[in-house]
This record gives sequence, C-alpha cells and structure tokens, in this order.
Amino acid sequence: MTAARGLPNVAEAMSFLIPSRTLRPADDPIFALNAEAKAREKAGEHVVNATVGSLLDDDGKLATLEGVNEALRDLPPQVVAGYAPIAGSPDFLRGVALDLFGDRPEAKMVASVATPGGTGALRHAIANFLEPGQALLTSSFYWGPYKTLADESDRGLETFPMFTGSGGLDTDGFHAELDRLVKKQGRALVLLNSPCHNPSGYSFDDAEWKRLRAAIEDISAKGPVTVCLDIAYAKFGAQPLDVMLDAMLPIANKALVLFAWSASKAFLEYGLRVGALVAVQPEEEERRRIQNALVYSCRGTWSNVNAGGMAAIANILLDSTRRARVDRERAGLIELLGRRVAKFNELAAKAGLTYPRYDGGFFTTVFVKDARDAAERLKADGIFVVPQPGALRVALCSVAERDIPRLVEGLAKVA
Ligand code: PLP
Repeated sequence: MTAARGLPNVAEAMSFLIPSRTLRPADDPIFALNAEAKAREKAGEHVVNATVGSLLDDDGKLATLEGVNEALRDLPPQVVAGYAPIAGSPDFLRGVALDLFGDRPEAKMVASVATPGGTGALRHAIANFLEPGQALLTSSFYWGPYKTLADESDRGLETFPMFTGSGGLDTDGFHAELDRLVKKQGRALVLLNSPCHNPSGYSFDDAEWKRLRAAIEDISAKGPVTVCLDIAYAKFGAQPLDVMLDAMLPIANKALVLFAWSASKAFLEYGLRVGALVAVQPEEEERRRIQNALVYSCRGTWSNVNAGGMAAIANILLDSTRRARVDRERAGLIELLGRRVAKFNELAAKAGLTYPRYDGGFFTTVFVKDARDAAERLKADGIFVVPQPGALRVALCSVAERDIPRLVEGLAKVA
C-alpha cells in the first residue's frame, strides 16, 4: 500500500488502537445471522428466522403494546427533549421499585439508577463490584454479551456447569465455582438469568433458588459476594417473580442482591433503552456509598437515560389503570408465545429432541453435537438458529406458530 502524498503509512507499521482492542470482531453474531435471514427473505425465500430475541406476531410484525404506545404519544415535547437527572427520574425509579417489590419492605432499602436497558445495568454491576482483571461468574450457557460486557470493562468471565446429568440446575457445581473464585479473588460477582434464561429457556424452580441461596450464604462468609439477578424476561416466566424474591431477598443482609431490570422485553420497547440497576442494601451507610458509586458510573458513561422513555414507563408503572391495561395486553402476547411453546414441546418430544425444561419465554436451546455444522445445514434448508457450544438457540419469540412443525422437523434432521 502506498502512503498518500509521500507520508509514511502508519497503519502498516502500527495500530492506533491499544493492543487489547486490535482484534475486536465488529459483528454481533446474532445480528449478523438475522441480517442474512432477512436478505434471503427479501429475495423471495420463505425462511424460518429463529435468531433475534424480539417478539413478533404470527405475521412476522414486531409486537408492541398499545398502552405503551399511547403513553409514549402522550409525552409533552419538553419532557422528551429535556435532560433527565443523572441517576434517572425519581418517578421512574419509584416505579421500578414498586414493580419489583410491591409493598415488600425492601422497596425502601434500595440504591438504584436508571440505565440504558438491562445491558447498562449489567455494565454498572461489572464495573462497580469487581476489580479490573477479576472474573464474574455465570452459568456455562449464557447470553453472549455478558462476555462482551466483561471484556469491554477489562474483566473476565468464568462459568459453573449449568445442568446436571438429569437436566436440573447444577447448584453443587455453582457452590464449588463460587467458592473457588472467592478464594482466588477475595470477592465475586455472580450473574444469574432466570426466569426464561437466555439462551436455554430454563427457569429455576423454588428448590433451585433455595439451593443457590444456601450456597451464596455459605460462601459470603468468606468474602463479599454480589449476586446480580438478570430479570430481563421476568414478565414471561411461568412462575411469578415472588418465587425468586422469597428465596433470594433473605440473603440481602449477607450478600449484595442486585436486580438488572429492563423495559425492553417487559414493555416490548427494545429500542427505547430504558432499564435500571437496583441494589438491595439494608445498611444505610453502605447503601449511600453504593448509590454514589452508581450515579458516578452513570455520569462517567452515558450521562443520563432517555428522558421520554423513562417518563412513559413511569406513567404506566405508577398509574394503576394504565398499568392494568398494559398487563392485560401483555397477557395476550404471553398467550400467543405460550401456544408456540406448547406446540414446540409437543412436536419436539415426539421428534426426540434434547433440550432443557421449557415452560415459557423467548428462547429454547436444543442440544446437538456439532452446533456450527448443524446451524449451517439448517441454514441451507432456510432455517436460521444461533449456534452455541453444544447447542442451538431457537428464538420461538420470532417464529409463527404455523412454522413450528417445519422448524422442529429441520432440528430433528441435524440433532
Ligand atoms: N439479559 C439478557 C439475558 C438478555 O437476553 C437481554 C436482551 O436480550 C438483556 C439482558 C438486556 O437487554 P436490554 O439491554 O435491551 O434491556
């Protein structure tokens, strides 16, 4: 390559990027697969696109909630245009605490900030509760951006085996890995995603939550353990969130319990970028320190969150009529998704597919030997799924009920 106007070509000799950033892949693999599926669809092919985690109706249109659309339309221009407080609007944060805890006493023991989606909440958890160079702990199947978020903050990611041989949550494996990490690092941050775990579709049951709690209680005697509960899919779980809350809130005086709350799936507003990180801390002085650190992080990253988005979601969360309407509308879509889940379970069982317990939510994961090869073969057949180590993620949220027989048939051929 010749340099312009006789200047030396610096790109040949060195990179302006710092070494840890020179080999970053640009494409998010899921978004890239979705783009490929869409291109083939545009060219006239009938593809089954089970890649992206957005809820589509059976005509392939992005589903939205009319009560949310109306709350957004009702916003005064000055509310949309103005800066929001750095921590997030107080009404929005009150609404989130109400949504999470109702009238539980924990609602009054929180440090919380608004974040751009659950992603922002996870980002703040990683940056504030782990030192650079330390690793977070999550399940062996996990949402890929956990690793991206860790990388981006110069933290690592380690895993515990997610499933036992009989298909339940491996809480003993969790206990052992948490113990190892606390011994190594002197502290731990755990990311747990349930209900409707992405990518496996698994929801922890009451007994599993209680075993997780016992493990955390045991290890937190050895060093500070922060547990971040990623509840992005909370509204789609077969069980109420109370199952998790009843099991986990009692450890809030021993471990730090965080919630990564998101409006993306709960209100079907992925692009609005509204979420929150909520920390439950009974001790006032520590709560104040956490609040300060989180607000500082907001200022040091995105400054403040979408003001109109927060106002619309707050108006729904704090107004019982609007809220009931949105809950009703969401229930209709949960039913639509439930029909797909039931159809999938019926056909997948007959076809002998191996996958974790799946009782609701956007995704399931089918175990296969060679996921890359299986995904490629499915793609040749016009079926798009996301390969993971040892499994294929199938986003039923974006597959029409009538396409499920074709999807399962295809999966059975490659499993
Ligand atoms: N956590 C999990 C497991 C997810 O799947 C997602 C979105 O796909 C999120 C968190 C956060 O999404 P958002 O940043 O849009 O709220």
